[in-house]
Amino acid sequence: MAAEKIKMENPVVEIDGDEMARVMWAWVKERLILPYVDLKTEYYDLHVKKRDETNDQITYMAAEAIKRHKVGIKCATITPNAERVKEYNLKKEWPSPNATIRKILDGTIFRAPIIVKNVKPAVRFWKRPIVIARHAFGDIYDAAGLRFTAAGEAEVIYRGNGQELKASLPKLAGPGVIEARYNLDSSIYGFARASFNYALMTGLDLWFATKDTISKVYDARFKEIFQEVYEKEFKGKFAERGLNYYYYLIDDALARSVRSEGGFVWACKNYEGDILSDLVSTAYVGTLALMTSELMSPEGYYESEAAHGTVQRHYYRYLKGEKVSSNPTAIIFAWSRGLRRRAELDSNDELKAFSEKLERAVLKTIEDDKIVTQDIERVSDEPPAAVVDTEAFISAVKKNLDLMMQKP
Ligand code: NAP
Ligand code: MG
Repeated sequence: MAAEKIKMENPVVEIDGDEMARVMWAWVKERLILPYVDLKTEYYDLHVKKRDETNDQITYMAAEAIKRHKVGIKCATITPNAERVKEYNLKKEWPSPNATIRKILDGTIFRAPIIVKNVKPAVRFWKRPIVIARHAFGDIYDAAGLRFTAAGEAEVIYRGNGQELKASLPKLAGPGVIEARYNLDSSIYGFARASFNYALMTGLDLWFATKDTISKVYDARFKEIFQEVYEKEFKGKFAERGLNYYYYLIDDALARSVRSEGGFVWACKNYEGDILSDLVSTAYVGTLALMTSELMSPEGYYESEAAHGTVQRHYYRYLKGEKVSSNPTAIIFAWSRGLRRRAELDSNDELKAFSEKLERAVLKTIEDDKIVTQDIERVSDEPPAAVVDTEAFISAVKKNLDLMMQKP
């Protein structure tokens, strides 16, 4: 281990969370980060009780802190429902912190599989990563819905800027439902730029797909903006790196993705991204704990997190004193990615090298030592050398990391 800890110039915003994810968060920080890095964080505790005490102000403060410091690292948090309100004696069902933070940062979420040799993708052609870039604004998540009980007529009306615009739906022959969704050019431009930038950063092609042949206004606008951003801002940079931008119809894209070898960022509108990120990740690595999740905003704000939740079921067993085998990989990668982003912004080579070693130490533990947690055992091809509990897994990673830190 290096005698002197790695210095940091600027802090990262550390956003703590709930249950088993919180327990693992503390172990990872204490055993895999603090021994090596003179860690600077601005700490926000989003434990569900803290959110309750502050009437959720702490969530807003954390998001604002990411705007100030540019880099946030977030632990999984409970989104309270009626049961949780009872369990934690809360004032109300506070909204999802992720949704609040995303709305403030206006970002795109990138989810990539953490590929390990011992877990083969369900699709045998896949060799290189498939990253889902999900636009996290508008569409059905902020739509207007109507249910009607008899035949009638309906139109969508826009008023503003001294204009009135109308579009009529076909005659409604009987009872039914209507949904009107929207998006904003500014958000679509941000989504497009974030997607092209992420592809450049990771050296992957970019795919974008919609159903513009049918959705001739809505999806067509997305297609048009992506094409414009590509032509004006990214064509040259993509050519320099030998990367490509492909636009497909969404059904064509699905078929192509399955017979491809991977190696692309797939920009998805909000709903498609919601669905495809779970499908692609499960097909790729079989566990949510082998996945990175990074949010990037057009203003350059960044947040890394683990894609899984608080692992509630394991937590109750942990509270009873049982050894649990929750997988901390995604949490370790949330730390490594956040520190790497910090390192890049501050031109801190030592910190960057550390973040890369930390990831390699995890991969070495799983792939070469074949020491794994239970979720990986369930989906791995060959029997592992050892199936261990969370703390033993972290110790095995630390052993590898210590060896790597001894080398210059
Ligand atoms: P979850 O915490 O992701 O866990 C669901 C199941 O997935 C677990 O029971 C476990 O399966 C498996 N799993 C997830 N993470 C794992 C890990 N690191 N290692 C091993 N197995 C893992 O989802 P949930 O139970 O639906 O939600 C629990 C709480 O998390 C909820 O209150 C929800 O609001 C919150 N949540 C937060 C976020 C976030 O902040 N990003 C995201 C999703 C959910 P087995 O039990 O079969 O082993
Ligand atoms: Mg989803």
